Amino acid sequence: MSLPTTSDPRAADRAAPGRGKLTEVADRVLAYIQPDGGWCVSNSGALIGPDAVAVIDTAATRARALALADALAAVTPLRPRTLINTHAHGDHTFGNFAFAPEATVIGHDLARAEIVANGHMLRDLWPGTEWGEFPIVPPSVTFPTRLTLHVGDILVELIHVGPAHTTGDVVAWLPEERVLFAGDVLLSGCTPFVLMGSVAGSLRAVARLRALGPRTVVCGHGPVCGPEVLDATEAYLNWLHATARAGIDAGLTPLQTALDTALGDFAGLLDPERLVGNLHRAYAEERGAPEGATVPLGPALEDMVAWNGGRPLTCLA
Ligand SMILES: [Zn+2]
Repeated sequence: MSLPTTSDPRAADRAAPGRGKLTEVADRVLAYIQPDGGWCVSNSGALIGPDAVAVIDTAATRARALALADALAAVTPLRPRTLINTHAHGDHTFGNFAFAPEATVIGHDLARAEIVANGHMLRDLWPGTEWGEFPIVPPSVTFPTRLTLHVGDILVELIHVGPAHTTGDVVAWLPEERVLFAGDVLLSGCTPFVLMGSVAGSLRAVARLRALGPRTVVCGHGPVCGPEVLDATEAYLNWLHATARAGIDAGLTPLQTALDTALGDFAGLLDPERLVGNLHRAYAEERGAPEGATVPLGPALEDMVAWNGGRPLTCLA
């Protein structure tokens, strides 16, 4: 954990990072929300069937993953038998160890490949974070498009909607409760992040998710919200696309474009430096890169730090 600095607007959060809290968003459907929802501080879900429990996503650090397991143990005597990973990122999957091998880990084909390839790499981005020691546990059950789960009598549709936030994004849709666990395809109060996915693919994903008609949305980060997050995400993505197009036409780099651009309506979202990374993706797509094609992460991350005035990205995990 980095020490707080007076120039850091989230210094108070750094000193006392938020812990997760379980809330019931529908009958026996729980959201585990970790404030403040910024980098690596992610949300989980739990479905408490009469004789089965499923968990959706884990957490970034050993301590946070064990705290999630403890929180669930306090509300049900049943041990989770199923764990769904919405995507590959470590803040959603590093905690798999706390539930496997008792729980079968399920994810998209591409997410498994990414988890295996990346290992503990995310830890290198924030060496000051107290990650703890844990093994990487990739999904053992994977699928390419859709999978239906029955958690007792709770019906769950797992739907691949990538490339959006990553290539292997899966959402968990509960059609009877109209609850959507969106992973990082939708973020609540946080800047969208598509560097490792696709702008056009994200816009398509938002349209698909809107068509489901969710009443309650549990995003990968940030507070529980409603379908208004679809409009907010779509507005950001359209603005990102237009900003990238204007920057390319003006002959500017992604960083120059970001520095020249007022955040306007989006200034209140957490982790605004993601604009620069998003522009790297948008530029690549505007120049013909296939959706989800590899965009070098190093230069994009360096540009995000530069946009941040040289200050490292704030990770409260
Ligand atoms: Zn993510």
